[in-house]
Amino acid sequence: DAAINRIAAGEVLERPASAVKELIENSVDAGATRIEVVIADGGKTLIRVTDNGCGMTGADLPLALSRHATSKIDGSDLLNIRSFGFRGEALPSLGATGRLTITSRAKGADAAMIAVAGGKTEGVKPAALSAGTVIELRDLFYATPARLKFLRTDRAEAQAVTDVVKRLAMAEPFITFILRDASNGDNRTVFRADAETGDLFDALHGRLQVVLGKDFAENALRIDTQRDGFHLTGYAALPTYSRGAAVAQFLFVNGRPVRDKMLLGALRAAYMDVLSRDRHPVAALFVDCDPTLVDVNVHPAKSEVRFRDPGTVRGLIVSGLRHALADAGH
Ligand code: ADP
Ligand code: MG
Repeated sequence: DAAINRIAAGEVLERPASAVKELIENSVDAGATRIEVVIADGGKTLIRVTDNGCGMTGADLPLALSRHATSKIDGSDLLNIRSFGFRGEALPSLGATGRLTITSRAKGADAAMIAVAGGKTEGVKPAALSAGTVIELRDLFYATPARLKFLRTDRAEAQAVTDVVKRLAMAEPFITFILRDASNGDNRTVFRADAETGDLFDALHGRLQVVLGKDFAENALRIDTQRDGFHLTGYAALPTYSRGAAVAQFLFVNGRPVRDKMLLGALRAAYMDVLSRDRHPVAALFVDCDPTLVDVNVHPAKSEVRFRDPGTVRGLIVSGLRHALADAGH
């Protein structure tokens, strides 16, 4: 019910950027190749995510809004997770804390829409949409004023949204991402990354240029190594392209962006001998493994993971990067 949804919302949704993350992940899961995000006032008054994914039928819409109803997992299989979503919590939580409208059209079906505000759902109505899904969230946290108070300035929240979009764009180089800011009636493009082509390494390299800059991409070492069922791929910068802050470290586990202490520590350890303490390595690294070797279900915001054998993963990162650095003369 509404109260439970609001409590759970507190775990999943800390700020507008967490809502944007959940919505983009849903679009990726829906097979979208183009995802456009519009925010206003740091996402506090408006978040709109438009995708060209598989869409939902009118009958799907109430289900999408009911707690723990996910189309992505049957419940018996929580460790074997490949898609981003698996809790069925995001949309009910968003509907409990803001004014949420979902408009969607599945192939071969008519477009339909549903609205929910403060946890109260209205009936499904016909709508006009050619394909895909538009999810609009207005006035996030209006129903939970205590949370609203903890939000930072519009500028800081907008920055956090930009970071999230860039992280997910880094993870999905074959998808076009667009972020616009519609504050004050404006329509400013904040970030745009057009779908890359070629093989995964070409695509990643192209996306790196867009997200981190040409200089970095041209001086990044290609990483491609594996050990005991773990595959490490991506790019790591030469020490000369390090940064004064840890802002350009993109780590992904089975395609999911993570901020995991063990992985960040391994990255740091790999550069220990070639970077001074006040510098931070720049890297975009993907760890892929069988889903049973990693538990991504540790934290509701899903940014921490637990490997069954963290030592192997750490060793793979440290030795993989050190070899690449050594080959490059460092
Ligand atoms: P989860 O992603 O964990 O399944 P959500 O609450 O995020 O839970 O979404 C609930 C359901 O709504 C999804 O399982 C999916 O079936 C549907 N859904 C959400 N967003 C989209 C979208 N952009 N396109 C198509 N279906 C979607
Ligand atoms: Mg989801």
